[in-house]
Order: sequence, then structure tokens, then C-alpha cells
Amino acid sequence: MTAFDRQLETRITELVALVRSSRYLVAFSGAGISTESGIPDFRGPQGIWTKMRPIELQDFLQDPTARREYWRRKIESYPQMLDAEPNAGHRALARLFEAGLLKTMITQNIDGLHQKAGIPEDRVIELHGSNAYIACLECRKRFEWEEVLPFFARHPASAGECPRCDDCGGWLKPATISFGQAMPEEETRRAFSEAGKADLLITVGTSLLVYPAAGIPGETRRHGGKVVIINNQPTGLDHEAQIFIQGSAGEVLSNVVDRSVGNSHRI
Ligand code: NAD
Repeated sequence: MTAFDRQLETRITELVALVRSSRYLVAFSGAGISTESGIPDFRGPQGIWTKMRPIELQDFLQDPTARREYWRRKIESYPQMLDAEPNAGHRALARLFEAGLLKTMITQNIDGLHQKAGIPEDRVIELHGSNAYIACLECRKRFEWEEVLPFFARHPASAGECPRCDDCGGWLKPATISFGQAMPEEETRRAFSEAGKADLLITVGTSLLVYPAAGIPGETRRHGGKVVIINNQPTGLDHEAQIFIQGSAGEVLSNVVDRSVGNSHRI
């Protein structure tokens, strides 16, 4: 065993002890937990932003070219999102929930994979919205993808047009939170409240660089809870963590959960 392996083993053993003794365990995930399901993250070494810059809400609203480009990217990645399956990391967290240890799952992800792995909808707080449907930016009316996709078949990219709400005329956009867009009030309030209640917060697959989401670990600490960070590279807040475990989300989480609740109930 190398010194690195020994250090990893020690940290995992410490985390298992914390999980077993926890009374209110909350987990907080970012794009990194879903890379093992084939969905790229933003800031990781293979992240989307190594290839393209994000389109902010103001550009979406004001610039027809940016708006159409935003939709082009979403439509291109839609089949991948639809087909993606939960991986070992999502399944491990679902087992932790099933065992009664995990109380709430807070996620920055928009892919719905925690719910697909078996955590009930009402225990998953989606801080940055969801890619599963489309909403009007004005009146929030909900549309399904199947209702909106035919618009793009009828209006080729060269025409540059984008769909509008049939009720109020507002722009339609997948129900995710873009840069420059207000955070959903209720989800943000609930996420901070759950983080404050947690005696243990496990943060996984997030660079912890985007606020207000990156303020969640601080909320747990302020209320006396412990924070553990699992990520494959250093994050912005490793200094705030009781334990930082550098590794793959799927491998580390399945190891920790196998040893915390056993692996007889593997989903
Ligand atoms: P991020 O891209 O900023 O950070 C992801 C982190 O996870 C990186 O530090 C990366 O090195 C690490 N990582 C990647 N694969 C990993 C693995 N297998 N195991 C452990 N660590 C791994 O992501 P973020 O902090 O979540 O913020 C970006 C925003 O982008 C989020 O708010 C989210 O809304 C959105 N986003 C969501 C998805 C998704 O739903 N799957 C995908 C891309 C971006």
C-alpha cells in the first residue's frame, strides 16, 4: 500500500464513522457526480468550459444569436440527458437514503439522476432547476420538450427564431438557472435550512466556486455541523472541511456506503 492509499483508507474510515454516528446527514452534489454517467461537468479537466463559454441570461434575452445558440446547445445535449443512467455514486446515495441515514439531497445538477436512482422527488432539492422541462421566463408556464422541439424543425437555424409562450409571449427556456438568472427562492431557502440542520454534510463532485450554492457548507459549519468534501481535484473550500477525500465520486461513495450500511441492499 502506498502512502497515498493509506491516507485515503484512513479518511474513508473516518468518514464511515461520521456517517454511522450522524443524526441528520445531508448530501450536496455538483456536476462531478454525473460525469461517470457520461454527462460532462463545467469546470473539470474535460469540462464543457474548456471548449465553450456559458451563455448568460442577459445575452439570451437581448441577443437573438446567443438565444438561438443557447437552444442549439441544449437540443444537442438533450438526447444524452434523456438516456443518462445513475452511476455508482448516485446509487450509493440512494442506498444511504433507503437505510434512513441520508435525510435530504441538495443538488446543483439539472439531470434528475438522484431521483432516477431512487431518492424521492420531495427529498431532492434542485438548486439550479431542471432540464426535464421548459418554462416561460415571464409567467413560468410549463411546457414539455415534445411540445417545443417541433418549433425547431419548423424554423431552421438560419431563420434564428426561438419559441415564445403561447399565453404571455415570454421567451421559453429549459427550466434551469442560467448565470445572471435569479435563484429559485423556495429551493434556496429549503437548501440552506437543511444545511443548517445537518450534523454532517457530504459535498460531492462540486468545485464549490459558484455562490450562493457554495455557501451551503458554510451554513452547516455555522450551525456546528461537520463538512466532508469528496472531489477528484481540490475545491475552493477544502480548508473548511473536516475531511477532504480526493477521488472518484462513484468509487469513494460506494466504498463508504458499503461500509456504513452494508452492500446487501445494492440497488
Ligand atoms: P463544476 O463543473 O464546477 O465542478 C465539478 C467538479 O467535480 C470539478 O471540480 C471536477 O474536477 C469534479 N469531478 C468531475 N468528475 C468527478 C468524479 N467522477 N468524481 C469526483 N469529482 C469529479 O460543477 P458544479 O460545481 O456542480 O457547478 C457547475 C454548474 O453547472 C452547476 O450549477 C450545475 O447546475 C451545472 N451543471 C450541471 C450538470 C448536470 O446536471 N449533470 C452538468 C454540467 C453543469
